[in-house]
Amino acid sequence: MLLNGKTAVISGAASQRGIGRATAQLFAEHGARVAILDLDAGASADAAKALPGDGHVGIACDVTDKSSCDAAAKAAIEAFGRVDVLVNNAGITQPLKTLDISLENWGKVIDVNLTGVLLLSQAFVPHMKEKGGGSIACMSSVSAQRGGGIFGGPHYSAAKAGVLGLAKAMAREFGPAGIRVNSVTPGLIQTDITGGKLTDEMRTDILKGIPLNRLGDAADVAKIYLFLASDLSSYVTGATIDVNGGMLIH
Ligand code: NAD
Repeated sequence: MLLNGKTAVISGAASQRGIGRATAQLFAEHGARVAILDLDAGASADAAKALPGDGHVGIACDVTDKSSCDAAAKAAIEAFGRVDVLVNNAGITQPLKTLDISLENWGKVIDVNLTGVLLLSQAFVPHMKEKGGGSIACMSSVSAQRGGGIFGGPHYSAAKAGVLGLAKAMAREFGPAGIRVNSVTPGLIQTDITGGKLTDEMRTDILKGIPLNRLGDAADVAKIYLFLASDLSSYVTGATIDVNGGMLIH
């Protein structure tokens, strides 16, 4: 029970097979009360109800909208009294090549994957400062490190690389207030973003580049979020943790 008595807010945690949902499940199993933030109020509430234990809440939140993030933070803080952990997990992909990216595509992908991390962090950091600390984990991607992904696109890589810089800058700025900020860089994880889109040929090809010889699953990433949320990582901040089966060994 690594999160006994703690409270955690996870964005993008309503989708059934997603990393956020698996993280909410693992956090609840470890004793945390969890707030699930996602676009749809009903889906967020249903996801919260399905978690083990009591006191979880689902809150509608669009991470690209400042007033929505502020309202979600107010609701979570009112529900729990204090928030110890924020997981900035919400994200979208668009499988486009550079020359096909319109300004609208660019704006949408940057807004959800990068601006959302800023807005939700801004909404919770004043509270964490007041309470003497907290842990913020941010979702990046192997796409930020290797340039391009299978389902992402150059704008997705740019947004996720931006997350790494933003998280490190926040780690530096908020460290003295006892707030740790870290990033996670998953490889190919089987979720709704990727699920069903892989042909057998693509899978065989991808596995050639993964020493552990399997694709990741949502629980593989949830375990890293758990480490970052818990006191096991009490002296870890500004770090980037790869969860990719060895994809980047060179
Ligand atoms: P997913 O589609 O299951 O989860 C994404 C969630 O974000 C969904 O629940 C969706 O409703 C939510 N969301 C989208 N826009 C939002 C917004 N504006 N406000 C609030 N919530 C919003 O996919 P996933 O694979 O679990 O993705 C989770 C995170 O992991 C994303 O940031 C993604 O980019 C990242 N990631 C995924 C992989 C992978 O291979 N699946 C690899 C690296 C990084």
